[in-house]
Amino acid sequence: MFSCAEYIWLDGAKPTSRLRSKSKIISIEGQASLSDFPDWGFDGSSTYQAPGEKSDLILKPVNFVDDPIRGPGNYLVMCEVFTMDGEPVASNTRALLRKQIEACSADLDPWIGFEQEYTFFQDGRPLGWPKTGYPEPQGPYYCGVGKGRVFGRQIVEEHMVSCMEAGLMLFGINAEVMPSQWEFQIGYRGESGETADPLTCSDHLWIGRWLLLRIAEDYDVVVSFDNKPLAGDWNGAGTHTNFSTKAMRDEKTGWNSIKSLISSLEARHHKHIENYGAGLEQRLTGIHETCDLKTFRAGANDRGASVRIPNNVAEMKCGYIEDRRPGANCDPYVVAKLLLEAVNEGRAL
Ligand code: ADP
Ligand code: MN
Ligand code: MN
Ligand code: MN
Repeated sequence: MFSCAEYIWLDGAKPTSRLRSKSKIISIEGQASLSDFPDWGFDGSSTYQAPGEKSDLILKPVNFVDDPIRGPGNYLVMCEVFTMDGEPVASNTRALLRKQIEACSADLDPWIGFEQEYTFFQDGRPLGWPKTGYPEPQGPYYCGVGKGRVFGRQIVEEHMVSCMEAGLMLFGINAEVMPSQWEFQIGYRGESGETADPLTCSDHLWIGRWLLLRIAEDYDVVVSFDNKPLAGDWNGAGTHTNFSTKAMRDEKTGWNSIKSLISSLEARHHKHIENYGAGLEQRLTGIHETCDLKTFRAGANDRGASVRIPNNVAEMKCGYIEDRRPGANCDPYVVAKLLLEAVNEGRAL
């Protein structure tokens, strides 16, 4: 049977890669597997990834899910980008994460969960805002309900159902503090038999972003992943990243492992800030539930910290940490890679 596979990849835009995709008609019999999706090519000179005289690049399928938009029998296919010589291109950050995972011990068993915040815009203003002036100040909007409290619910609902139909590791959604700002979470959700490994969850976050952009097209709405989509007394948008290893989750080794990771994150603060998304200094100001860029602070139940230890984790002395620094425009492959690197360095401390 013929079906449609949407090949998705990251382009070479700087400072922030954006999503690209194109469709391929393929014939798949029965249950699809990764090997059903052949390597493909594209013009890298049109995606900031190659010079014109050497423009052909390779798309290598690395993960796939059901396509909830085109329906049963169609697929969304995540790809890595390689040169004709088989080398990963500079923007192929997934290859870096793969390499980092190889450098980790097999019993690390890391789990990750991303909280992706984003903001809807239409006609140059946040969706649903008055044509002139501003809505009432922040306060009533976070997890709000009702007209004048939430903006864009229909898109958010359609996106949520699409993520579920695709089989993404969707954890949940909520309306955010700034009106027309929302969040969806991808990652660990406590189901046995499910792996929340960084590679799968990062793939799913990118596919979740793709679905959001694609669905919002139908509503004539722009999705912004800017860290500070609007200046002034409006919250920025981040991608809080929740992370644990087997040793952190174990009640015997948990607290020591958590402390060792936090010291390592403190020592590496600058490196993480540099790589957690462009324009982070506009969001990490020390107000609007953030810690300022220059300071590293870890604390239990502290939403003004760089790294928060959730209350129940501080009580149980085991579990996970929340890195609150990554921006909404961060690359989850890079964030996951740096967290794994920090674990390895922490062990050496
Ligand atoms: P917040 O209270 O910061 O808004 P959310 O409810 O939005 O938190 O998201 C919680 C996140 O924590 C989810 O992304 C989930 O996958 C993640 N998470 C929960 N437990 C763990 C764990 N043990 N290891 C890693 N991530 C976890
Ligand atoms: Mn959240
Ligand atoms: Mn949030
Ligand atoms: Mn959070």
